Amino acid sequence: MNDVAILGGGVVGLFTARRLAREGWRVTLFEARQLGAGASGSAVGVLQAPRLSQSAFSRLSREGGDSYGTIAAELLEETGIDTGYRPCGCIHLRHELPTDPERELTFWKNSGVEASWRGRDRIEELIPGYGGEEAFGLELDREAVIDPAALLAALRSSCLRLGVELVEETGRLELSEESGRAVLPEPWSSRLGPRSQVVVAAGCWTPRAVESLGSRRVDVGPVRGQAIELELPPPGCVVHFALAGSGNAYYLVPKPGGRTWVGSTVEEAGYDESTTPHGLAELLVAARTILPAATEEMVSRQWAGLRPKAMRLGGPFIGRWPGLENLWIAAGNFKTGIIQAPATARILCDAMIGDGEIDKSFALLGG
Ligand SMILES: Cc1cc2nc3c(=O)[nH]c(=O)nc-3n(C[C@H](O)[C@H](O)[C@H](O)COP(=O)(O)OP(=O)(O)OC[C@H]3O[C@@H](n4cnc5c(N)ncnc54)[C@H](O)[C@@H]3O)c2cc1C
Repeated sequence: MNDVAILGGGVVGLFTARRLAREGWRVTLFEARQLGAGASGSAVGVLQAPRLSQSAFSRLSREGGDSYGTIAAELLEETGIDTGYRPCGCIHLRHELPTDPERELTFWKNSGVEASWRGRDRIEELIPGYGGEEAFGLELDREAVIDPAALLAALRSSCLRLGVELVEETGRLELSEESGRAVLPEPWSSRLGPRSQVVVAAGCWTPRAVESLGSRRVDVGPVRGQAIELELPPPGCVVHFALAGSGNAYYLVPKPGGRTWVGSTVEEAGYDESTTPHGLAELLVAARTILPAATEEMVSRQWAGLRPKAMRLGGPFIGRWPGLENLWIAAGNFKTGIIQAPATARILCDAMIGDGEIDKSFALLGG
């Protein structure tokens, strides 16, 4: 039987574990803290409308977006857990119409998305309490939301049912090299077979896990994101908007229980996962441009996570570690790791099983 150790219990590690277990592999997943403790448990859960593009990176989002309906139904059937997947659509608010409004409609139509320009009446219908200055909105039918905590719980339960061994609270494991193979530190390595494959899906901590092997092959770093929950009635769809002057992009996300989530900051803060008063203020200022009634007292939760950003063009690192026969990497999905995780895992697993070529834009550096 094929045998694999996966480092990292975020969405990428869990989708990979589930896929390999379904192929009959014996899978052990090691998580430094608890499943979802990294970026995955901090995500907002927007599954963006697919854009027509030939790039391998955007094909990951497209495949993920297309597959989540089926994945959510399968997980519900297997585990009884509703992942909160809802194809609710979205609206992009604008102060003015573009010079050629038809062009954007054609772009979305070619992407397989129904798009229409809307006026203030429709915006007010979709966003209870709307008090913004945007008079136009581009409404798209194909965007969805998922509840990241429920998705993680469902993936956990599915993995356990498939016989995956989940080992949490291991601390951050560091790999070393022995006779041309990557090995885990003791006591973990002795739990694996002598021919075991190793996958590192440790988000922004991936370079640290492979430090002694030459971490520069996976140039992934942390970009902090903070988000808040507002006790205000949710909009009828995801609402995308930009802050006049700064150009920063934000979104309001409808959540069950009559809540609205506001995301998210984009900050260089090293490996600091804490929330800050500055992050709270930034998100409240942004939210108030759309919902003037929002106050700090209505904030019921604030959280932060570190997105794994691949520090090169072309998207995440997915593939085999050059020079070591058993090591694989999947990391660096940055702002879109929830939507891209199913496709990232599929591409990696196909290659591990021997059925697939990996697009060279995902190759490790120097590989
Ligand atoms: C505020 C915010 C909002 C977001 N919103 C969205 C969204 O709406 N839609 C979307 O698609 N994406 C979103 N993202 C991005 C998404 O969350 C990430 O791209 C995705 O979760 C990355 O998953 P991952 O499995 O690669 O990494 P992570 O979830 O970070 O998982 C890596 C795991 O590895 C563990 N680990 C680290 N080192 C080791 C080691 N050496 N040994 C063992 N375990 C280790 C960590 O503890 C962690 O649990 C958002 C992110 C943030 C922060």
